[in-house]
Amino acid sequence: MINRQPTVKRSTIWLRMAQPFFILLLLLLVMVSRESALEATGNVKTPVRVLLVTGGHLHDLEFYSLFNRPEWRVTVDPHPAAFAGDIRQRYDVVVLYDMVRSMDEDRQRNLRNFVESGKGVVALHHAVCANVDWNWWVEEVIGGRYLFEPFEGRVSSYIHDRRQKISVVTDHPVTRGIGDFQIVDETYRNLWISPRVKVLLRSDDSTSDGPVAWIGPHERSRVVYLQLGHDRQAHLNPRYSQMVRQAVDWAAGRQPVK
Ligand SMILES: [Zn+2]
Repeated sequence: MINRQPTVKRSTIWLRMAQPFFILLLLLLVMVSRESALEATGNVKTPVRVLLVTGGHLHDLEFYSLFNRPEWRVTVDPHPAAFAGDIRQRYDVVVLYDMVRSMDEDRQRNLRNFVESGKGVVALHHAVCANVDWNWWVEEVIGGRYLFEPFEGRVSSYIHDRRQKISVVTDHPVTRGIGDFQIVDETYRNLWISPRVKVLLRSDDSTSDGPVAWIGPHERSRVVYLQLGHDRQAHLNPRYSQMVRQAVDWAAGRQPVK
């Protein structure tokens, strides 16, 4: 018995040393099976990678509270740095809150490659005034253009601080659970709006064109344009915040969080 004691001790020590590795292995197995289960249900826990592009227009700091979400990893990149390289592998969705009228050809190509690879785009408010001279962008992606110069006898205009009722006109993952709501926000009038967009929301305000949110016409990319969002009165409106969240999740190919 005395001679066998060291043997027992050695095996006990070995087991104690190996125990953390078994626990680690078990944890890894649990994590892998959980990821597989999440992928199967479409609720992948990896963060949505958001490229948030600003620039060309002043805005309230409250705007950024819309993006303070643990399930998103947000990179803010104002012009002219945005779209300087290939962004296809780095982001799931581009959110545009910029108002820069034109970009050079390299940046246009990078953004076009992103869209044509099937990634998502969410354009907010004055982003409809950006890239207005880029016909492919206006006609195939956003489906709307702010008319700075006369077109068919009209130009676009805007009015701030309009109290208006917004109605949901299409049931869609972006509008689900939103319901009709009141908001104080800027209105646009006399935009060019493509007949190929799917209108989601309408404003009842007499100074608005009516459609204030739609799905863009591009066949491969999920594109949402949300015209609301001039200042903190909109940014802090819970319905607006919900719309932005659902638009980003949908454009990124995720199920909107209930
Ligand atoms: Zn505005």
